[in-house]
Amino acid sequence: MEYTQFIDGALTTNTNRESWVNYNPADNNPLGTVYQANEEDIEAAVASSQKAFQTWRTKTGAERGRVLLKTAEILRSRLEKIALLETQDVGKPLSESLAVDVSSAADALEYFGGMAATIHGDFVDLKNAFGYTRPEPLGICAGIGAWNYPIQIAAWKAAPALACGNSMIFKPSELTPATALELAQAFMDAGAPPGLFNVVQGDGRVGAMLTAHPGIAKISLTGSVATGKKIFAGAASQLKKVTLELGGKSPLIVFEDADISNAVSAALLANFYTQGEVCSNGTRVFVQHKIYDSFLSQLKERTEKISVGYPADPDTQMGALISKAHLEKVMGFIDAGKAAGATLLTGGIRPEKDFKGRDIRSGNFLTPAIFTDCEDAMEICKEEIFGPVLCILCFDSEEEVIARANDSAYGLAAGVFTNDIKRGHRVIHQIQAGTCWINNYNITPIELPFGGYKQSGLGRENSLAAIQQYTQLKSVYVELGNVDSPY
Ligand code: NDP
Repeated sequence: MEYTQFIDGALTTNTNRESWVNYNPADNNPLGTVYQANEEDIEAAVASSQKAFQTWRTKTGAERGRVLLKTAEILRSRLEKIALLETQDVGKPLSESLAVDVSSAADALEYFGGMAATIHGDFVDLKNAFGYTRPEPLGICAGIGAWNYPIQIAAWKAAPALACGNSMIFKPSELTPATALELAQAFMDAGAPPGLFNVVQGDGRVGAMLTAHPGIAKISLTGSVATGKKIFAGAASQLKKVTLELGGKSPLIVFEDADISNAVSAALLANFYTQGEVCSNGTRVFVQHKIYDSFLSQLKERTEKISVGYPADPDTQMGALISKAHLEKVMGFIDAGKAAGATLLTGGIRPEKDFKGRDIRSGNFLTPAIFTDCEDAMEICKEEIFGPVLCILCFDSEEEVIARANDSAYGLAAGVFTNDIKRGHRVIHQIQAGTCWINNYNITPIELPFGGYKQSGLGRENSLAAIQQYTQLKSVYVELGNVDSPY
């Protein structure tokens, strides 16, 4: 398999450039060769996206919406093929790619496709005059994606951008080059003009070229805080608009009156979905003293039943981490946790066999880990690990847990479990996080804004809020009388 650029409606064929092998995290066998975009490719992508923008911006919202809706239909019809590609690239269970990744991409296209015709300005009645506003597109927007949800990230950026009349150049992570190309082909098959959604492959250098390019009006990143800061700084020289969806170290707070079984389900969802490689994960699980023992015993028992194994097996519940290097990084955090005095209650080891007895030593597998005896200041409780590592922390009072939950440079997400409806809202309103749940975790419907406070990001994805991120507002004053001139 060759992963090339997708520019002006087709895969490019010139492979005379820097390249690397893309590996399957499940066995570290090669999946294919990825070709790094060079300056020429970026210029070709910008020229083609500029041409597409000139026609696309003149379409009505309804016309744009039809293309997005058709693209969603095509993605759904190719669900199994795309889900398998995602599983091979990311290492996540096929059951997840089938149920979530491709469908949530299609959900975004349907939501913004349906909304496109309703994007409108305001009318303002004035004295002998009136005014109106027009939300206008920005131009070419660049999307830069992380490797954990490749097609979802691409669609969460492309759907609102295109609905608003922009074109997009998308750079997937160098580790997951496959499914952005499938999305690009689906747009073409749905009747989009060539160049409306171009894909350039490559590492951070390609992201930096997009950020610096004067022909690109906006950058939307999903990635780490460190990359977010570089992009923000790079975009500043041209005062480019940015949306930054960054990392987190989010709290999940379980009060003693909570439904424990539901809270345990949520803690599992908040830590072990996609091998724990989820930005909004609730990795600091605060449990009130009185229920600590029963919560922990249920959590341990259910964690140990998670079936770790070959991602493409439909019965697998946890697959392989994205790369050997990332596996080592996560194991380094586990070692640091043990060295700091935390107790590794379960997991955190590289299994030799999967849940069906198959040899999985060649893949990047790790059993789901729970740390107890944690302290807030430990590295494992402060840093984003981005792997299946859950830290349990104990608390006494509401006031105490709010202060401890907020004691973080991050502010992406938070969850509260309680059967006291007043407490649920009261606590969530005091938590410094952009995406919150009461009595659930990691549910991200397209209808609700998604994004972070503090160093977890800038701007919002999804919902009506995304429209503001991809438009600029023009105000028009219309005189109905004479010009009142002092001269
Ligand atoms: P990175 O920040 O390493 O990379 C994100 C993207 O930015 C990649 O495409 C990367 O390319 C690119 N990039 C790297 N350097 C630059 C640069 N200087 N200029 C422009 N682009 C650059 O994140 P990961 O891919 O490792 O993903 C994990 C991170 O993403 C975690 O911190 C996680 O929390 C966060 N994330 C946030 C989400 C959110 O919505 N808030 C959702 C999912 C993940 P390359 O891959 O080739 O290095």
